[in-house]
Amino acid sequence: MDIELNLKEERETIPNLDKLPFGRVFTSHMFLMNYSEDKGWHSPRIVPFSKIELHPAAIVLHYSQTIFEGLKAYYGTDGKIRLFRPWDNVARLNTSAERLCIPPVDPDLALKAIKTLVWVDREWIPRKRGSSLYIRPFIFGTEGALGVKPSSEYLFVIILCPVSAYYDEGFDPIRIYVTDTYVRAFPGGTGDVKAGGNYAASLKAQEEAKKLGYTQILWLDGIERKYVEEVGTMNIFFYFEGELATPELTGTILPGITRDSVIKLARHLGIPTVERRISIEEVLEGARTGRLKECFGTGTAAVISPVGRIYYKGVEYIINEEKTGPLARRLFDYLTGLQYGEIEDPFGWTITLEAPF
Ligand SMILES: *Cc1c(COP(=O)(O)O)cnc(C)c1O
Repeated sequence: MDIELNLKEERETIPNLDKLPFGRVFTSHMFLMNYSEDKGWHSPRIVPFSKIELHPAAIVLHYSQTIFEGLKAYYGTDGKIRLFRPWDNVARLNTSAERLCIPPVDPDLALKAIKTLVWVDREWIPRKRGSSLYIRPFIFGTEGALGVKPSSEYLFVIILCPVSAYYDEGFDPIRIYVTDTYVRAFPGGTGDVKAGGNYAASLKAQEEAKKLGYTQILWLDGIERKYVEEVGTMNIFFYFEGELATPELTGTILPGITRDSVIKLARHLGIPTVERRISIEEVLEGARTGRLKECFGTGTAAVISPVGRIYYKGVEYIINEEKTGPLARRLFDYLTGLQYGEIEDPFGWTITLEAPF
C-alpha cells in the first residue's frame, strides 16, 4: 500500500529546539490510517498535524481500547538520521494489538510509515547531542457504540515530538518508592503490553510517591508483593557483586527494547547477566551489606536511569552512596554512542534514513 502525502503548502517555522518540555511540541505532520470491517486497514496518509474528531461514544473513550509505542529518531554526530530497533517496536505494537482485540497492522507498512513521517519532518530533529525526535505510534477504537465489545473501526496515528536530552542537568540517580498498596500488573492482565489503561491505573501510586519526594514507583508482583517487577515505566536492573540481574519476563512485565539491548550489550561486554526472580528482600539486603553495587531503570526515554535511594515500609536504603555507578555510565555511553552513530554497531540495531521511501 502506498502512503499518500498531503503535506503543508508552506514550511512551518521551526521553533528553537534547545529547551523543550517533554511531549508538548509537535511537528508539522502526522500519519493516519483507518480500519473498517469491510475495508480492513486502508488509506494510509501523511497530513498536516491537527486535532482529531471523535464520536462521543467512541469505544476508546469509555473502555480504553488503545495501545501505543514509543521510539526515537536521532540526529547523528555524522549528520545521519538513525532509528534504533524500530522493527521491534512495530512487532510489540502488534503484540499489544492482539491482546486488546485490535486488528494487526502490516509491519512493513508501519515501519515505512514511521520512516516516511520522520523523513518528511526531519528538520524537526534537534541537532544537539542527547536530544532526539520522539515517535509515538498509537491505535485506538473509534466506533461510536456503548456496548462493551471490540470496536469495528480503528485509527492508527503516528505523531512526533522533538525532545531535549533527558539528562540536561546531569546523570543523577533517582529516588524510588516501593508501593505495597497498589499493583501495576497481575498474571493474566495486560502488564506485558503497552495498553493505555495500564498507565491510567498507575497514576495514583505515582502521585502519592511524588508527594513524598520520590521520583518513581517500584512495582512489586501482584500476588505475593514480594518480587520486583518494574520502576515507573521502565524495566529495572540490579548489579550485584559479579552479576547483572533483571526480573524475568513472566507475563506481568513489559518486554522493554532497552531492557533487551542492555542484556545483550552486557553479555557482549563480558558481564554475567541473568533474568530471574529478584525479591525486594534480596535488594534491600544487598543495599545494607554492599553486595548490591548499582541499580538502574531502562527505557527509551532515559535509556539508563540510575537509582540511588529506595524507600520500603518506612525505611530508606541507599545504593552506591547515591552516585551514578560505572556500569550504568558505561551502558549509557555505549547505547547512546550507537544511537548517535559514534560507535560501530555490532548488533545491527540501528538503521539510517538517507532518502525518501
Ligand atoms: C515502554 C515501557 C518500558 C520500556 O520499554 P522500552 O522499549 O525500553 O522503551 C518499560 N516498562 C513499561 C511499563 C513501559 O511502558
